[in-house]
Amino acid sequence: MRGLRAGLAGLGAIMLTACGGGAEPPAPVGPDPAGLSEQVLAERLGEAIRFETISEEGNPDASAEQFAAFRDWLEETFPLVHEQMAPEIVAGGSLWFTLEGTEPDLNPVVILAHQDVVPVEAGTEDQWTRPPFSGAVADGFVWGRGALDMKGFLVMAMTGMETLLEEGFTPARTIHIGLGHDEEVGGLGAQAMAARLADAGTRAWFVLDEGGTSIREFPATGGPVAAVGVGEKGYLTVEVTARARGGHSSTPPRETAVGLLSRAINAIVDTPFEHAIEHPMDGMLRAVSADMDGFAAVAAGNPGLFGPVLRGQLMADDTTRAAMGTTIAPTIIEGGVVDNVLPQEARAVINLRLHPRDSSASALAHLRGAVAGLEGVTVEPIGHISEPPAISPATGRAWEIIAGAAAAHAPEGAPVVPNLLSAATDSRHFAGVADMIYRYAPLEMDMGDMARIHGDDERIRVEALPGMVSYFRTVIGEAGRETEAGRAQ
Ligand SMILES: [Zn+2]
Repeated sequence: MRGLRAGLAGLGAIMLTACGGGAEPPAPVGPDPAGLSEQVLAERLGEAIRFETISEEGNPDASAEQFAAFRDWLEETFPLVHEQMAPEIVAGGSLWFTLEGTEPDLNPVVILAHQDVVPVEAGTEDQWTRPPFSGAVADGFVWGRGALDMKGFLVMAMTGMETLLEEGFTPARTIHIGLGHDEEVGGLGAQAMAARLADAGTRAWFVLDEGGTSIREFPATGGPVAAVGVGEKGYLTVEVTARARGGHSSTPPRETAVGLLSRAINAIVDTPFEHAIEHPMDGMLRAVSADMDGFAAVAAGNPGLFGPVLRGQLMADDTTRAAMGTTIAPTIIEGGVVDNVLPQEARAVINLRLHPRDSSASALAHLRGAVAGLEGVTVEPIGHISEPPAISPATGRAWEIIAGAAAAHAPEGAPVVPNLLSAATDSRHFAGVADMIYRYAPLEMDMGDMARIHGDDERIRVEALPGMVSYFRTVIGEAGRETEAGRAQ
C-alpha cells in the first residue's frame, strides 16, 4: 500500500498548476513554420517579456504605457493577424481578433491568452538569476516574468496563427483570439470578450486557454505526461460570525462569542463536502496507470473496482484530496481585544475552493446547515465569488483535436490525461458562452518549474517553443477545418 500511496501522491502536483484516452495524433497542418528556429522564437519571446505589462488590482492604468507599447509590438510582429483579423481593443486593453470562417453556422473557436503578468515581489529581485524583465535567452531558457504565465503561450499561439495566414489559411469556422489584459486581477477583459459572443448570439464550440502542460518527469510515474485542464475550481470566501453576551470575564455566560465561534469552525470543518473519484480523476488514473508499477498500476487502472482503496489513499494526500472535492480552509480569526472583557462578537474567515459539483449557493447552504444548531452564528459570503465552470468531456471531437495535438507535441510516450485545476483562468468567464473549455500548451515543464510561476526565476525551455507553435497550428488548423462538430443548433 505504501507504493500506491507514494505513487498516487505525485498526482496532486499537477493539479496545482494552472492543469482519457489518447487520441490518434493528427497530421500536422502544412509544413512546420519555415525559418522560425528555436533561436528566432526565443528572441521573439524575450522581446515580449521586456514589456512590463503588470496588472494591478483597482488601478487599471498602472502600466498603460507598457501595454500600449506591447500592442504596437504585437502589430509589428504579427502583421497578418492584425491585417486579417480585425483587432478590437476591449475593456481598455484586451485584444479581440476575428478571422471569419466561410461557414457561418459553425460555432467559433476561441484561443485565449493574457498579456498581463504579476509583479515581482519587492525585495526579491536579487533572487533572480537574470533580471525579471530581461527576456534573456541563455542556458537553454528564455528568462523572465511571463515566460510560463503566459507570454510564452501568447507569442507561440500568435506565431502559429501568423504562419497559418502566411500560407493562405481560410477556415470554415470563425477563429477568435482573445488577449486579456487583466487576468491576474479578475479578468474584466475576458468578461467583455465573452460578452461579445453573447451579444452576437453565438456560442463558441470550444475555448482553449492556459492551465495544462506537458511535464517531463511526473512524480507518480517517473515519466512524462501531458495534462489537459478540462475543469477548474471555483472560489468562495465566507465570514462566520458568532454573537454572545459581552461583559466582564469574571462572570461569563456558559458560552462566549469566542467559544461559540470555535464550535462553529469545528462544525464546518467536520462537515466536509463530497469527495469522489469521478471525471476527470478517473480518466487521469487510468491514463497514468500504464506507467505505474505493481498494485498501484492495477488499482489506478481500475478506479471503479478499487474505488474505496483508491479513495482512501487519495484522501490522505492534501493535493489529491483537493482535486476530489470542495475544500474548506479557515484563514482568519478575530475576536476580543482585552484579556478580561468578553467580546460581543467574534469572526472567522473561511476560504473555499469549489469543486464543479458544487456552486457558491449550494456550498453556502452546506455551511449554514453545518452550523444550524448553533444559535448566534451566521455565515455570509464576502469578497469575490467565482463559480466553477462545468467540467468539459475527455471524449468527442474537440477533445480529440486538443488531445491529439497534445500527444503529437508532448515528450515521447507521454499519456494525455484530463485534469482539474485548482487555479483559475480567464476561460471561466466563457462558461456561459462555450460548449467546452480546454486548458493546455506543451510548455515542457518539470516539477521545479511549478514554483517559478508567480515566483523567482520564471523561465521556459527554448527547445519547447517550436513544438508550441506547431501545437497551436494543429489545433487552429484542425478546428478551423472541422465542419461536422460544433454546428449552431
Ligand atoms: Zn496565467
